[in-house]
Amino acid sequence: MDTMKAVVFRAVDDLRIEEVPKPRPRAGEAVIRILATTICRTDVHIVKGEYAVREGLILGHEPVGVIEELGEGLNDEYQVGQRVIVGAITPCGQCFYCLNAAHSQCGGALGGWRFGNTINGAWAEYLLVPHARANLAVVPDTLTDEQVLMLPDIASTGISGAESGGVRIGDSVAVFAQGPIGLCATLGARLRGASLIVGVDPVAARRETSLRFGASLALDPKAEDVAARLKALTGGRGVDVAIEALGRQETFELALRSIRPGGVLSSLGVYSGKLVAPYEALYAGLGDQRIVTTLCPGGKDRMRRLMAMVAEGRMDLTPLITHRFALDDIATAYDLFSRQGDGVLKVALFPAAVPDRASAEIDSEVLTHMGF
Ligand SMILES: [Zn+2]
Ligand SMILES: [Zn+2]
Repeated sequence: MDTMKAVVFRAVDDLRIEEVPKPRPRAGEAVIRILATTICRTDVHIVKGEYAVREGLILGHEPVGVIEELGEGLNDEYQVGQRVIVGAITPCGQCFYCLNAAHSQCGGALGGWRFGNTINGAWAEYLLVPHARANLAVVPDTLTDEQVLMLPDIASTGISGAESGGVRIGDSVAVFAQGPIGLCATLGARLRGASLIVGVDPVAARRETSLRFGASLALDPKAEDVAARLKALTGGRGVDVAIEALGRQETFELALRSIRPGGVLSSLGVYSGKLVAPYEALYAGLGDQRIVTTLCPGGKDRMRRLMAMVAEGRMDLTPLITHRFALDDIATAYDLFSRQGDGVLKVALFPAAVPDRASAEIDSEVLTHMGF
């Protein structure tokens, strides 16, 4: 049997590089050879044992690859050798949830999230893609691997915070936490036409990056009363939409306290334990507020739309890729990412060789092209 190299979750805080069987596609499935992938905060939760997956699972849910083998029934639409991305969420497109516009909940709660959760993920030389016709999104030749690497999860999730919040032209928006997802939420607010956009993060470097991703100003929640400042900036009302991009009680509560009566709290964070909504922030339940949660939208048309935004120069997410590693160096990459060392935003992992280019540091020339 053919084998491949993969990063396997063996136990809490125990990731191993192993030789495992190379996957083969059944009807409707495809196997892609991974060109690039990355580490998500969710992967850190898994490795630390804060989100349970089965022992022996290959982690990772953000793939850029090339079609290696197609199962039966796909030849009319795809060819071996095509470069593709696949969303972190892989809906079937046919079940109750998919047909009721809840694709990320395909088959049941969180069911659309399969890679590195319920089936093997992208930290490997090859990846089996289920429901391939709904999920293989062909990458235009004009786009590089790194230009599309942030789309399967980070951009799709972050931008969805603004979409689910229903951000309208001229809205005021505050985004709580400016990590990679929060920065994409800030970008999403800008793309949706918000006027005032406020990035909130205690880390100075992230507040700086927030301005480059479209924030009008960036606030330090440790230095001032952010909810009061946001009210002062909006005629005493509060923002139209607050986006929570961290998953903590404090940020959820602050986001709730920051929206106006009738406003929207759009939540992207992954929470653990009990989440409390103080009654006064909820206006005793009579404030006409809406709280919406969103799991990363997936599927090939979502990926096509995001790629179109990159191809037309509306957004460039390559500045988020601050570090590059071979997949063999997963231990170093994981350590750096999990402890947020060296100003890391996202790392790119390459199963083959790391492409020869200068790494690190946010490319200010690229950001200038974004018009910021
Ligand atoms: Zn993720
Ligand atoms: Zn489905």
